[in-house]
Amino acid sequence: MANKAYKFRLYPTQEQEQLLAKTFGCVRFVYNKMLEERIQIYEKFKDDKEALKQHKFPTPAKYKKDFPWLKEVDSLALANAQLNLQKAFTNFFSGRAGFPKFKSRKAKQSYTTNVVNGNIKLADGYIKLPKLKWVKLKQHRQIPVHHIIKACTITKTKTGKYFISILTEYEHQPVPKEIENVVGLDFSMNTLYVDSEGERANYPRFYRQALEKLARAQRVLSRRRKGSNRWHKQRRKVAQLHEKIANQRQDFLHQASRQLANRYDAVMIEDLNMKGMSQALHFGQSVHDNGWGLFTTFLRYKLAEQGKKLIKIDKWFPSSKTCSCCGRVKVSLSLSERLFRCECGFVADRDINAAINIKKEGLKQLGTA
Ligand SMILES: [Zn+2]
Repeated sequence: MANKAYKFRLYPTQEQEQLLAKTFGCVRFVYNKMLEERIQIYEKFKDDKEALKQHKFPTPAKYKKDFPWLKEVDSLALANAQLNLQKAFTNFFSGRAGFPKFKSRKAKQSYTTNVVNGNIKLADGYIKLPKLKWVKLKQHRQIPVHHIIKACTITKTKTGKYFISILTEYEHQPVPKEIENVVGLDFSMNTLYVDSEGERANYPRFYRQALEKLARAQRVLSRRRKGSNRWHKQRRKVAQLHEKIANQRQDFLHQASRQLANRYDAVMIEDLNMKGMSQALHFGQSVHDNGWGLFTTFLRYKLAEQGKKLIKIDKWFPSSKTCSCCGRVKVSLSLSERLFRCECGFVADRDINAAINIKKEGLKQLGTA
């Protein structure tokens, strides 16, 4: 079984918008209420682990008596709030995350609902959702008939747009593709990657222009008096630009990964730890903005769909310092050396040399070198 999510823009009526706002509010309320109660339970039984284990944790149903208005919204959305809180605690106990936090009014407005007995249906530009009935949506692509809808997540962005992410499940056993064409990618700060064939992925010009525009808009915002009308107006503008840029980046990353996945049977990349890297190199935000993580996620599933492979090579492999021609490894190579020159006479662009090494190392892992 495989999963795939489809995201579409939603166009709720005014009445539906009100119900959506109420649902977001109720989900947040129930989440915070359960969290509060769980904290109290932990406080009470912290010295008695057995009693803590026996104790039943609160469920949304419990609150419906005291807060009858909770019955007006989708009960599955409330049940998912409970599951999310459970997940947050599991992550906390396993050390993967900090202690669960209360959800603030300013947090992302969203809720998830599930398919139960045909409560969710898609037809003619509308989607039927629990309590909301038929909501208009712009379905720019078809969901294949063999995909079964499992859950839907509805979100409202900061600029007031609504989106629905439809999670589907489908039977999928791709036939492994015989590996003939392979490529190595070297991560690049400026262009996303340079490949072993010498090609560079380049962010489109309009994307770079939008980034500059955002930087200007943020400078203007910082000069406005906080809370003033002009400040609010500018803040909205900044949020709109952020959204636009995020969409442009995502489109570009989809395109770039699609092209590679169609063209090659295996793609080799370095297993970079982006968080560690951004801290170590003081690149700060820009590494995350570069979208490498998102790109490799897209690449992985686009390859997997076709029975192809994404191969990660060890991050300690000296891809930059190794000569891709003779295999000699340099003792040092400064960041400013853009050309790789070897004693053997080999000269190449530094990034291309690294990409070729990544490809070779990947082939070794595949056992086909
Ligand atoms: Zn050499």
